[in-house]
Amino acid sequence: MALIVQKYGGTSVGSVERIQSVAARILRTAKAGHSLVVVVSAMGKTTDELVKLAHSISKTPSRREMDMLLSTGEQVSIALLSMALQELGQAAISLTGTQVGIVTEAHHTRARILHIQTERISQHLQNGKVVVVAGFQGISSTSELEITTLGRGGSDTSAVALAAALGASYCEIYTDVPGILTTDPRLVSDAQLMSEITCDEMLELASLGAKVLHPRAVEIARNYGVSLVVRSSWTDDPGTRVISPTPQPRSLLNLEIARPVDGVEIDTDQAKVALLRVPDRPGVAAQLFGEIARQNLDVDLIIQSIHEGNTNDIAFTVNTPVLKRAEAVAAAIAPVLRSGEPSQLEEAEVIVQRRIAKVSIAGAGMIGRPGVAALMFATLWTAGINIQMISTSEVKVSCVIDAADSDRAIAALCQAFEISRDTINPISAPAHLATTQELKSTSSLIPVRGVALDLNQARLAIRYVPDRPGMAARLFGILAQHSISVDTIIQSQRCRVVNGVPTRDIAFTVAQVDANAAQAVLSQAAAELEWGEVVVDSAIAKVSIVGAGMVGQPGIAARMFEALAQQRINIQMIATSEIKISCVVAQEDGVRALTAIHAAFGLAGSQKVQVPV
Ligand code: ADP
Ligand code: ASP
Ligand code: MG
Repeated sequence: MALIVQKYGGTSVGSVERIQSVAARILRTAKAGHSLVVVVSAMGKTTDELVKLAHSISKTPSRREMDMLLSTGEQVSIALLSMALQELGQAAISLTGTQVGIVTEAHHTRARILHIQTERISQHLQNGKVVVVAGFQGISSTSELEITTLGRGGSDTSAVALAAALGASYCEIYTDVPGILTTDPRLVSDAQLMSEITCDEMLELASLGAKVLHPRAVEIARNYGVSLVVRSSWTDDPGTRVISPTPQPRSLLNLEIARPVDGVEIDTDQAKVALLRVPDRPGVAAQLFGEIARQNLDVDLIIQSIHEGNTNDIAFTVNTPVLKRAEAVAAAIAPVLRSGEPSQLEEAEVIVQRRIAKVSIAGAGMIGRPGVAALMFATLWTAGINIQMISTSEVKVSCVIDAADSDRAIAALCQAFEISRDTINPISAPAHLATTQELKSTSSLIPVRGVALDLNQARLAIRYVPDRPGMAARLFGILAQHSISVDTIIQSQRCRVVNGVPTRDIAFTVAQVDANAAQAVLSQAAAELEWGEVVVDSAIAKVSIVGAGMVGQPGIAARMFEALAQQRINIQMIATSEIKISCVVAQEDGVRALTAIHAAFGLAGSQKVQVPV
């Protein structure tokens, strides 16, 4: 008989009737002879209401007191669910995070799990009880007994971590939708259910705004090979399986913080094409990449930096054999792109850089752990290597550098991340391809698996940052010290000389809740380091497509940009990695952008998903 961890979200336990129906479902599984650990969230919108309550007393409540307050929500639901089970004649016991011994870091409101004491749970299971555990919460250490929480949506992470620690047969996440859909059905009514998805793709979707799973839950499932499924609380349908590759063995100590990087990769066969000063209007990226797609040229990274005045810079990388053709397309299209902007005529230019290399670290949870990218950049800085382009995703951080620096970059990164040099594959072999191959029947045939929208991001820009090694290291180092994660990061291609020093603008996105703190700490640093002004724009939306099968498929980016162009939506920033393409647009355009892109990739279907309130 199996040991199963089930997790029920807020809506699923949002009323007495729903708690009773969850209890009946649990009973059926218990009656079939399985051992059950059940993780629950706070009822309905309880956590939101507690947050509101706190803010009606203080604009900046202390993080410790927030944890004290928010952790009460789950304490209510575990007790009620245990009572409901007992009413049905099923022995059950509720336990808080403290009682279990879910030991976390001491970072209030965003703690990562260090380890889970399983003895108490195992004892109760042996005695035939269903163990009902409060999700989302832990304890800083068994001596200090400080209550911590894992971050909003963190009950998923509690459940998967428990499944890993207990060696459960599988972990089921029960929620208010039938499983993982191609996008949020509350925003796009014709989103379709997927029967399975790779954990790399899900990690990316979750991190880019699909809140159906907490990204860290997927990270743990991937790292420990937990069988994970997302299902509806209201039906017996199978839901969506999240597929993990066979994991490397790892300790259950430092569960969420150990070894974030499991590979270093290098691709030395790359070249960069940049178009400077293209007009800032809808349709430009679509025109450029549409032409590149028509030539069947495969583009690797694409970035478009923030607009300055009324022009943008767009840069992309290609493999050297197709450089000539890509360059020809860019050169042919540049005058066309300039045509509507007579004042810009002389300024626009195409720059080509041969002999560049893309060096990457691969793993899981890179965005969620800001210290990882910071260490990569600091390592390159110490080696005196300048970073020309950066691409970040949850599963990979890549830096474009001078090809002449390749060997030194690899040596330094292998040492910093304790990776054996023998394992380095000299030609890029994306780590996620192995996973894709396991999923031949799905991912590799459908390049774009899902579309996500994040309306809770802000864009920061730092002007006039001197163009020398160490900039990204400093920036990320400062933010990592404050546990602020950066997603999209772009340095302008244009170099401006200020007081004799070549400078670039740097733009990046962070969660809105972190924007003010990021601006404050960076403004302080800017004054010391002679960077320019730090500006924030919170009225943005980030829309992203995700799919492990995008690699080596020309035309995907063009299709996304074309969908936005047709809607006359202007793209403010573009950032890509092998597994995703993200565009920043005005916040008011977010849902329209999501809907258009979802339709453009043929993801919309005829089945309507019912979403409860
Ligand atoms: P729970 O309380 O069960 O944890 P959440 O509200 O955290 O539920 O997550 C479920 C919600 O996630 C759904 O109701 C849906 O609106 C939203 N969602 C966003 N993106 C997706 C997606 N790709 N697939 C399914 N649901 C999604
Ligand atoms: N109750 C917490 C929240 O609303 C945790 C969770 O539901 O996953 O964020
Ligand atoms: Mg949730």
